[in-house]
Amino acid sequence: MSEYILETKNLVKEFRGFIAVKDVNLQVKRGTIHALIGPNGAGKTTCFNLLTKFLTPTSGKIFLNDHEITHEKPTQIARRGVIRSFQISAVFPQLTVLENVRIGLQRATGLSYHFWRSDKILRNLNGKALDLLKQVDLGEYANELTVNLPYGRKRALEIATTLAMEPELMLLDEPTQGMGHEDVSRVTDLIKKVSVGRTILMVEHNMKVVSQIADKITVLARGAVLAEGTYQEVSSNAGVMEAYMGT
Ligand code: ADP
Repeated sequence: MSEYILETKNLVKEFRGFIAVKDVNLQVKRGTIHALIGPNGAGKTTCFNLLTKFLTPTSGKIFLNDHEITHEKPTQIARRGVIRSFQISAVFPQLTVLENVRIGLQRATGLSYHFWRSDKILRNLNGKALDLLKQVDLGEYANELTVNLPYGRKRALEIATTLAMEPELMLLDEPTQGMGHEDVSRVTDLIKKVSVGRTILMVEHNMKVVSQIADKITVLARGAVLAEGTYQEVSSNAGVMEAYMGT
């Protein structure tokens, strides 16, 4: 098996004549944290949407564990273990924190509602949901209504619901966006912790976070790969400086 869990070959996305993603060749190594960075409008979100097939590429190919997934449906890709973090808007605010994670677990089992209703299965799923919450330091919030969680903790819940889907490759979309220092450092530690035994591809604007946890960085600008490497390598690249200054 190749050392890359995910590879794209000349990925292109065109929106009515505008090329948002231009011949992108990504190589994400298994077991690493890989950051996708770049100025606004660089094509990061479009790339994520292509990888999960929320968007169909105009041309190019996507491979997961050497298997081409370019033409697969979003549900098939999720079943292969590529799970994108759920946005906060996708967690149910009026359910408890535990119930939100349990829903993720129920989806992962693929069992129908008849099975979830069984007390034994529910107890088992509740136990697993609590374990996941403890992993992301949300154990004490298990029975709180999700709507009452502080913002930073909601992002941790998002990570827990993603973990419930048993991801092999987690796609995190700006996991520290809008957070204060304390929450940023808590979520940074959390990502590092949950990366053990998994691969993480993340879009992240906070360069401190990227410098602390990313093994490899791909810099996009105007839809194309501008630079790649470690934080030291890309941060000393003149083209990267220019792309950021120019926005
Ligand atoms: P980033 O996430 O790096 O900020 P995006 O992937 O959101 O960048 O956008 C890349 C470019 O593609 C932007 O210029 C954006 O306006 C354009 N774009 C994104 N989605 C669409 C769409 N559905 N239709 C037309 N243009 C789009």
